[in-house]
Amino acid sequence: MEIQGTTRVLGVIGNPVEHTLSPLIHNTLSEELGKDLIYVPLRVDQDVETAVRGAYALNFLGMNVTVPHKQAVIPALSSIDPLAQRIGAVNTLVREEKGFRGYNTDILGLKRALAKRGAALQGRGAALIGCGGAARAVAFLCADEQVSELTILNRTIEKAEALRGEVLKYYPDLKIGVLALSEAGNLPDGTDLAIQCTSAGMEKHLPDGSIVPGVSPVTAPAFYEKIRFAYDLVYRPSRTEFMQRVQEAGGEAYCGLDMLLYQGICAYELWNHLTVPEEISEKVLKKLEKAVQA
Ligand code: NAP
Repeated sequence: MEIQGTTRVLGVIGNPVEHTLSPLIHNTLSEELGKDLIYVPLRVDQDVETAVRGAYALNFLGMNVTVPHKQAVIPALSSIDPLAQRIGAVNTLVREEKGFRGYNTDILGLKRALAKRGAALQGRGAALIGCGGAARAVAFLCADEQVSELTILNRTIEKAEALRGEVLKYYPDLKIGVLALSEAGNLPDGTDLAIQCTSAGMEKHLPDGSIVPGVSPVTAPAFYEKIRFAYDLVYRPSRTEFMQRVQEAGGEAYCGLDMLLYQGICAYELWNHLTVPEEISEKVLKKLEKAVQA
């Protein structure tokens, strides 16, 4: 990749950004597609609005936004996609005439990852585990895709109740239940798909070089007997304990690496007004797998 006078800049703002895999995704896409673009990590501690306005003034083609700025960025946008607005979090900024338009491609990426596995949400009973930023977005995706029933499970039940209330404001007819993780065995009949959105399954790398494995947030065997398809947003490790337990009970389970891939692909497509061919997506996925294992 040669940087020249015509090269346009893309980047991700967040803190920390040192371990981001987004440059790998986007710079590989530009290389494969022959685009004169460069993608860089940009650490922003505070004053996100100034950073976004500055990037626009500097003629950036687009930006990604990561933790902790996905909400704070919203006032700096010229417009926002309706689903991203309902979720209240934006991770992709697309240049338009008077500023950046905000999207949530985390959720578009998950939708594409599920479609790839033939797991449509529409008409299906879904269990959502967790109530953090990622889970909130997934709850809105489930509602928007018209699941037949949604059950939100969380360690802190009050947060599950609050998320239920938020979703019902926009989707008042949706059947939504809440369960404490300790009651996960009481999942309603007809709920056979689960999306795991807690960080419990992530492995932790300690300063002495040792690795502490993650755990599954759900222990009840009755839960696993019901789940036929599961998607775990965690991708380090690539087979979490949660996935293992779903598979041992006879269900299908996948890790979040292709969600990470497709959130990037969806952003790249919005910036460049193109469709990334599947064989190029697969090449990027192979690189991501290597990077994650390393
Ligand atoms: P977050 O806001 O910190 O969410 C934390 C959630 O995890 C809360 O519901 C919390 O429960 C729960 N939790 C944490 N430790 C737990 C434990 N030991 N047992 C049970 N529940 C526990 O994080 P986030 O931003 O939503 O991200 C969640 C996970 O999704 C992370 O692992 C992140 O890497 C992953 N993610 C992946 C992608 C992708 O592209 N694949 C995208 C976004 C996020 P309480 O409410 O009770 O504290």
